[in-house]
Amino acid sequence: MKLRVTLARLAADAAHWGTTRLLHRGGGNIPGTVALRVDPNVVGELSAALSPKLVVTGTNGKTTTTGLLADALAGDGHDVVCNRAGNNMESGIAAALVLAGEKNPGRAGCFECDELYTVRVLPKMRPDALVLLNLFRDQLDRYGEIDHTQDVIAEALRRSPATALVFNADDPLCAAIADRVDNIGLPFGIDEPTDLEADRISDSRFCARCNAPLDYEYVHYGQLGAYRCPECGWERPGLAFAAVNVTLTCGGFEFDLEDRRSAKVVRHHIRTRYSGLYMVYNVMAALAGCLAAGNDAARFQEVLDAYEPASGRGKVFSLGDGREVASNLAKNPTGFNRMIQQVRAEDGRYLALFLNDNDADGHDVSWIWDIDLERLHDLSDLRLVCVGGTRREDMAVRVKYAELGAPIVLVESVEDALRFVGAGEKLHAIANYTAFPPVVAELERLSKTGSAPAAQTPPTTPSAAVVDAASVALDRPLRIVHLYPDALNLYGDGGNIASLSKRCTWRGIPCRVDQVLMGQELDLSDADVVLLGGGADRDQLAVCRELQGQRETLAAYVADGGVLLAICGGYQLLGHSYMMGAEQVEGLHILDLETVAGSTRLIGNVAIESPVCDAPIVGFENHAGRTVLGAGECPLGRALVSGTGNNGQDGNEGVLHDGVVGTYLHGPLLPKNPGVTDWLISRALARRGAPVELAPLDDALEAAAHDVAMRIATGH
Ligand code: GLN
Repeated sequence: MKLRVTLARLAADAAHWGTTRLLHRGGGNIPGTVALRVDPNVVGELSAALSPKLVVTGTNGKTTTTGLLADALAGDGHDVVCNRAGNNMESGIAAALVLAGEKNPGRAGCFECDELYTVRVLPKMRPDALVLLNLFRDQLDRYGEIDHTQDVIAEALRRSPATALVFNADDPLCAAIADRVDNIGLPFGIDEPTDLEADRISDSRFCARCNAPLDYEYVHYGQLGAYRCPECGWERPGLAFAAVNVTLTCGGFEFDLEDRRSAKVVRHHIRTRYSGLYMVYNVMAALAGCLAAGNDAARFQEVLDAYEPASGRGKVFSLGDGREVASNLAKNPTGFNRMIQQVRAEDGRYLALFLNDNDADGHDVSWIWDIDLERLHDLSDLRLVCVGGTRREDMAVRVKYAELGAPIVLVESVEDALRFVGAGEKLHAIANYTAFPPVVAELERLSKTGSAPAAQTPPTTPSAAVVDAASVALDRPLRIVHLYPDALNLYGDGGNIASLSKRCTWRGIPCRVDQVLMGQELDLSDADVVLLGGGADRDQLAVCRELQGQRETLAAYVADGGVLLAICGGYQLLGHSYMMGAEQVEGLHILDLETVAGSTRLIGNVAIESPVCDAPIVGFENHAGRTVLGAGECPLGRALVSGTGNNGQDGNEGVLHDGVVGTYLHGPLLPKNPGVTDWLISRALARRGAPVELAPLDDALEAAAHDVAMRIATGH
């Protein structure tokens, strides 16, 4: 063994000893970081002798699938090196390798890898297979847009050409990567409809080759399903591993996994104890990975039966007094929606939602508006929703606008929430990444010591915010038009619609919301407020094509003083053009502004001063585009933080042009800035000839969320 690797290993051992013995912490990434300092190729060196070697990546399910796959390999007689605790950056993988000791030859390797780190790990490790689970919007402030994540994974595969790609073919975003690289591809998927209710928001459903909207024969959830491009014929690849006969029994899902790699199809019958379809994907991915690595997986069912999900995920804690708490991790809308389905299946009565915005969670919390929280309306007796975490105020506003009819309580911890949960009841606790471990630790302590606080009477104040307002006389309801929510929806734009419509309804102003989907006729003749949301470059390109034919309609509406809120990508489209490198997205030429993509993104919390409302407007920006206004255009406001706004240079943010508000701020914009919502509503009413003094609403939760964002953006 080379001297450098030996030194790296010694240094890592010392670091591990120091952190665990002296600092009493779990070693985590530190030994790996130290080893990488001494030998930057330690991952390549120490994994060279492992066989087989597998890497698992994707947005959701990495830890579960990696654990299961490692167990499956062990079930087939391998001694497996694995980063089971979920430290999935290069340093976490290096740590697992150095701490595994000297006996790597003869062992197998199975590693979870963060999507963006695949490009560092794959070229060095050169695994036999990369298992690619799915790609959903997640931590967009770290990943940029999903297109970028796809580029990174494709590059990783190009630099490790002998690695087979075992990928979720139901996900067009994964299949698009397979389409771009020469690595051998082994597609897996569910080869029949599952008749689940589709999510309200899904990630890009555009063709990887020609960008036309995909047609779906069926959708399982998110963008996963059987798709085909009506323009160029690109479609879900033929499956090498196919789940069929998927049935939900009272004990969980059962299915057959067909191994179709050779003419003689081999069937594996699988029974799971999990009722979420996402677990069918995780289980299928683990089995496919195991088979792709040349194993016969004869003991897979046994391994699955014995499998314990990592660190409290999906675990039910008994508190010893009849109360139970189900703990679940959900860190993005798709994952959260799976948990919502679970709460609905159990007709849950008590909820505790924990939202953090630490580095590992992502600083942008707009994704909570993409969760289908409104589907909890079908619970028969929801009694309480507790919200906790560093951004609990944002979660409180989200829950308020879902109008679930139960009181909302801000709590410090899951123990705090238990004060309101009666004997014999079950609390569903759902927490995002860094919020989850403390919840589990507390539950472990409370269930061991039996010291959970006794139940008090829960608060009874309903969360509804209706004011005693006389209804406003209008000849027809205010018409709010949401343009292309199926394409431009990246930053919780549904929250903007909720803010507009609820704040009308709570004041007795009749309103209705119409969605205009891609391909539908655009009629704005009786529109009062129009919303054009934000999107990734690829989605924007598709919308731009769609809108070119509708330019006159939108231009006439704006010229007539129509109220229009355009966010991020939608804002850019109103101008002359958006240059993405050499590619030009032709704008609508409605406003005099121009956008050019920079090589970096402007990302972070922002606050601006604007004539539109008294309080500073707060939000989150995440854009590559740098926008410059023409001489005749006014900005929406002046950035209070330097380096933010339209272009990071001139201090301007957004545009204000008659009834048009264009801005890079999402979060989404309106729920935390009710002054902007009310400006839009007032303006729309005035245009209808019905100017009314808007009745004040109880905005305490909105103000609290605003103040948290303001503090983060400005530091005070
Ligand atoms: N894709 C555009 C950009 O990167 C718009 C992003 C957005 O909608 N925030 O600039």
